[in-house]
Amino acid sequence: MHQINRLAIVGGSHGNELTGVYLVKKFQKSPSLINRSSFETLALLGNLKAIAEGRRYIDKDLNRCFHHQGLQDPTLATYEDLRAKEIQQFLQPPNQPFVDSIIDLHTTTANMGLTLILGNMHPLLLQLAAYLSSINPLVKVCSHQQARTSGFLRFMCELGLVIEVGAVAQGVLNAELFQQTEQLIYAVLDYFEGYNQGKIPQTSNTLKLYESIGVIDYPRNEAGEIEAMIHPQLQFQDYQPLNPGDPIFLTFAGKEIFYEGESTVYPVFINEAAYYEKGIAMHITQKQLLHID
Ligand SMILES: [Zn+2]
Repeated sequence: MHQINRLAIVGGSHGNELTGVYLVKKFQKSPSLINRSSFETLALLGNLKAIAEGRRYIDKDLNRCFHHQGLQDPTLATYEDLRAKEIQQFLQPPNQPFVDSIIDLHTTTANMGLTLILGNMHPLLLQLAAYLSSINPLVKVCSHQQARTSGFLRFMCELGLVIEVGAVAQGVLNAELFQQTEQLIYAVLDYFEGYNQGKIPQTSNTLKLYESIGVIDYPRNEAGEIEAMIHPQLQFQDYQPLNPGDPIFLTFAGKEIFYEGESTVYPVFINEAAYYEKGIAMHITQKQLLHID
């Protein structure tokens, strides 16, 4: 990576995650907020129809539609398939350079503070993440190794980054989290500006990274219906250690269900509203200290 020339900020990939929607609208009204001298910044809204309707999506999750094969496939024609192709034209315009970086703005009903999800382990992303977590203790860094074919927007460039902020309910704005997200975006832009100008801020050379190693679903009956809830002791405890034998679910009859893993893990996305339909009660991560140069 020699220089960042174009960067895109995307809000409202999920139409009911309002922080990103209203931040992008703000940036579109006042582009000077996100302009930096050494690169171009685009601000665009993701799922326009879902934003208008206050829903996560219309036919399918837009943030699973950005796989190479699907983008080339003319038979895929749901609203989200078509919108993904339009967004691709912004990010990868014909006869023009592609965007080097995407900041994809999301919110979660889980208590994840200001979480960065790295699109890959590019050294510059790791340095950026180490810098941001050193200047702001609310910043946590996750990685989630997934196939490029999984269709996430963050894979559409070399330096893809998700900012996942919570806890905030779907369809709701939280002023404090809105402002914290906004400041985090400016810090990313300023970091890239410094990088382009050969003035990278001093960073700690270790990064605390939470790597997703799997997901846990709710206990379900044969019809697929949920039979238990997140245990009250686990609710909002994202990034806290979960030990074998700790309570994890509570059935409707009040029976506790305990974590049966073999080692301590660090759950995130605990009780994320949008993941009930995906069969995910939480992601579990391993915490590691990464040495970066
Ligand atoms: Zn989202």
